[in-house]
Amino acid sequence: MPGMTSEKQSRLLASSCLLFAGEETVETVLVQLIKTGIGRITIVGDSLTICRMSDVSASNSNPDTVVDFRKLNGHDLEDALFKGIDLVIEGLLDWQTKLRLSDLCMRLKLPLVHSGSSGLRFQLFTMLPGKSACLRCALPASGIDDFPITPVERDTFSPVATCAGSIIALEAVKLLAGIGVQQGNVLWKVDGLRGDVETVRGLDPRNDCPDCGRAAIK
Ligand SMILES: [Zn+2]
Repeated sequence: MPGMTSEKQSRLLASSCLLFAGEETVETVLVQLIKTGIGRITIVGDSLTICRMSDVSASNSNPDTVVDFRKLNGHDLEDALFKGIDLVIEGLLDWQTKLRLSDLCMRLKLPLVHSGSSGLRFQLFTMLPGKSACLRCALPASGIDDFPITPVERDTFSPVATCAGSIIALEAVKLLAGIGVQQGNVLWKVDGLRGDVETVRGLDPRNDCPDCGRAAIK
């Protein structure tokens, strides 16, 4: 593959990812990350999600990749979970945890790939602390401002979920290996119903935000 040197491949092998699971999208992310040879992937989710993801992991094993599992108890996000982690990916169904994860990643200066999907639509945002708006700022600026209090249904259409999952995996590999452009201030909205892809640009840190503004200063 152009740009994938042995040094960059070694970076992938040495990297650790946290994958917050829930949406169907994340199953494709896991398959692709295992194939690419990310060193360690820790799946975080509830019991049902972990059961589903362990089946996906078992049928796609790679001797170079360690996959392990952590049960997410309610909204519990301890700093210890993020120790030694290079990248966080989330396809959670609980919007309140998505937002709290954004706050936490900003504070710990960890890149976060956010995805949200519903039916034939999905959006993706790669948040780079210091270069990006946080989710609380980026989503309303992109016309997404409905953050349900309780977890949403898992209602993605498989062709859409696999498409979103593949793009997320690509973002992850680029970030971890250091290949290509990392914009950090761009959100993609894909509307499979209308057949439309929209790129929302200029999602920079906001000075008046306690989360992304502070990450940009330090
Ligand atoms: Zn913000």
